[in-house]
Amino acid sequence: MSVGGDVVDRVVQRVLQTLSRPMVELEASGRHVHVSRAAADALFGVGVPLTPVADLSQPGQFVCKERIGVVGPKGEFPAVVILGPERSETQVEISATDALALGVKPPVRLSGSLAGTPGIRLVGPKGAVDVDHGVMIAKRHIHMHPDFAQKHGLMDRQVVSVKVWGERAVTFDNVVLRVSPQFATYMHIDYDEANACGFHKGMLGSLIV
Ligand SMILES: [Zn+2]
Repeated sequence: MSVGGDVVDRVVQRVLQTLSRPMVELEASGRHVHVSRAAADALFGVGVPLTPVADLSQPGQFVCKERIGVVGPKGEFPAVVILGPERSETQVEISATDALALGVKPPVRLSGSLAGTPGIRLVGPKGAVDVDHGVMIAKRHIHMHPDFAQKHGLMDRQVVSVKVWGERAVTFDNVVLRVSPQFATYMHIDYDEANACGFHKGMLGSLIV
């Protein structure tokens, strides 16, 4: 077989391999805060509800109209978005680049794993709150509906790799699956990761299990 034929074979093989893998759509999450009711009381006034302005891809999750300041020892972001609904604990999700600008050293964590994370100051129109923990760099993850997981033989908490293509093609390792009937199937990365892979809206990645 000619050299050209070999190349064609390899390309066809790769396309077939790719097509047989599950594909997920990526979403890039900018810095944001989930607030507890106690924090919302202090920031916006006692009992003042959050104001939803846009739905997120995950059912029941929404972007709020309210913005707050996030103030670290070295820098601050004046108008950080709040994602609702309220949570039992306040959680501040930032990129590693944001962490450098703020002067904090948060660990990479899955949402909700707040033990041992650093605190930070939050500033709202009605007051400020110093949370003593809750700042994290979100660990990349895939929200997955059980139907998708079952179809592809995947399990909650399974760790996979995800390959994306393009000029800055990259494979993300250590991607955690989070399977729940409350989830729509999307992979979440932060802005550092989005910039590293040339993210664009609608970008797909293929799972390597
Ligand atoms: Zn997520």
